[in-house]
Amino acid sequence: MSDTVPPDRSEAPDSPRRLRRELEHYRVVVEEMRRRIRGLEDELETATTMAEVQSVVVTRPELRNTLGRLVKKVAMIIQAEKVLLLIHQPDMNLLSPLPPGLGVTAEQTEQLNIGVDDGISGWVFRNRESALFNDALNDPRTLKNVVSLLAVRNGITVPLVIKQRDEEERLVDERVIGVMHVFNKRFDEDFGTEDMRLLEMLAEQAAAVISNAQLYIQLTEEKEELQDAFESIHVGVIVVTRFGVVRLLNPAAAEMLIVPPDEYAGKQMEIVIPQGEVHDLLKSTLDSGEERTVEIQMGEEDGRIFQAQTTLMKREDSSEVESVVSIFNDITEIRRVERMKTAFVSTVSHELRTPLTSIKGFISTLLEDDEGMYDEETRREFLIIINEECDRLTRLISDLLNVSKIESGRGLDLQLSDVDLSQLLRRVAANHQPYTKKHKITARVPEKLMIRADADKLTQVLDNLVGNAVKYSPNGGKVEIVATDEDDSVRIDVIDEGLGIPERHRDHIFQRFHQVDDDVDHKSIGGTGIGLYLVQHLAQAHGGQVWLESSEVGEGSTFSVRLPQDPETVLEQQRSE
Ligand code: ADP
Repeated sequence: MSDTVPPDRSEAPDSPRRLRRELEHYRVVVEEMRRRIRGLEDELETATTMAEVQSVVVTRPELRNTLGRLVKKVAMIIQAEKVLLLIHQPDMNLLSPLPPGLGVTAEQTEQLNIGVDDGISGWVFRNRESALFNDALNDPRTLKNVVSLLAVRNGITVPLVIKQRDEEERLVDERVIGVMHVFNKRFDEDFGTEDMRLLEMLAEQAAAVISNAQLYIQLTEEKEELQDAFESIHVGVIVVTRFGVVRLLNPAAAEMLIVPPDEYAGKQMEIVIPQGEVHDLLKSTLDSGEERTVEIQMGEEDGRIFQAQTTLMKREDSSEVESVVSIFNDITEIRRVERMKTAFVSTVSHELRTPLTSIKGFISTLLEDDEGMYDEETRREFLIIINEECDRLTRLISDLLNVSKIESGRGLDLQLSDVDLSQLLRRVAANHQPYTKKHKITARVPEKLMIRADADKLTQVLDNLVGNAVKYSPNGGKVEIVATDEDDSVRIDVIDEGLGIPERHRDHIFQRFHQVDDDVDHKSIGGTGIGLYLVQHLAQAHGGQVWLESSEVGEGSTFSVRLPQDPETVLEQQRSE
């Protein structure tokens, strides 16, 4: 226990020399015992600290709490005023603080990103060796800005080392993840090698806690991210094991199968997935061991269409099938547009052929009239029809070109100028009137109404709306164009007394290729289904909007357009939003 000389019993028991020596002996023994007790207390403290610290850390706030407790205990055991953990950030090659420290403020912490070649932190990190300094200000290894920022007098810095041991506790790998600093021994004392040894012990365990926690947190966060992505993607995903147990079934798949978005993992496929094409696809992929791609129609004829693809998952170490992953992509919209496009091609061909047939017919008639059967007036009438049909063709082609411009994302360039809207509307009404005797087209507009607009494109908008008003009023009637001045904008209403639009189509008529195709009267009129789509884009290009204000089947419709008087400012505003 002690190498002090035991009391000499040959002297008289009450001799003062003997008493003094004995006293000295017991003082040393007591001192030694005290030291041992302190050592044991320290170890007990360390053990309990680590036991507490090693409680499962799974989230960032938990890690922060645990580190908070850890630095407090370290400060208590080492008797230091400040404790700071710096972790190596490989991407920036910096040692960055891992909060919370102790005795350091958040502002101070923010400034403590230290290069791996700098100061004591860098030295300890690179050399994997502890450092003790009792004169921080004059020690050549310290960074003076850190010393003054944290008012460091003295300190110990130890590496945070992760040690990997085998089953027999032999060291197999070592990795430094950062450093731990303690600064300013309490009661103005100096740090000693004993403190350093103790801190190294604490650091080894702290490193293990930090690294495990970070790994765990990273894994859980990655898992959560994956889970979130899996839950929120619009693509349906179902994973079934080779034993027919559902491992995953995301909300999109539940929606597709029309089953509640419950927790399906672990349940039998036969219970979860209703009999039908999806069930058969999964089963046949598992039975045959062949991956498939098929198109599945859910529900009735107008149900949603999915492209389904199955992939077999095998274990890394064997060719045995583990599970089947199936992905379901909703392609209803793609198929709908494809159908519409096909219909569109045939409508456009028809729309092109009609005026061409008429043009060809009249020209042939004129050419064959060698004997002058037709008088001058009739010939002129023929020429007027040819001219009109040519205009119709030009309009159709220009519409098609504009649609292709919008589709390719090139946008519709505007040539803005000051336009008298009243004059433009009067001209549109006048231009359409000669083509019809059954309709009375009028423009109820102010004397003059100036706006900035692209006159050609605006004419196209009105030509389309007035053209439709006439076209879809096969029995004739009034077609009115009304313009109203509204502070910063103008409003144009095109009112007809025609067929009206059935309710179920009202939300769709501005979509490209959409036509009222289930109504005999509408159907017999013909068209391409791109007019209103273009009108909408042209109005929007001006920073304006168009809508179906009202419609009554058999009574007529009113289409309205609102355009800003100064489109540049509005468009600028829209761009910045
Ligand atoms: P279309 O070339 O078929 O006329 P539009 O895009 O201009 O294409 O119009 C889409 C559909 O909206 C038309 O097929 C028609 O059924 C309906 N529609 C448009 N304007 C009117 C109107 N003024 N009255 C009744 N129906 C209309």
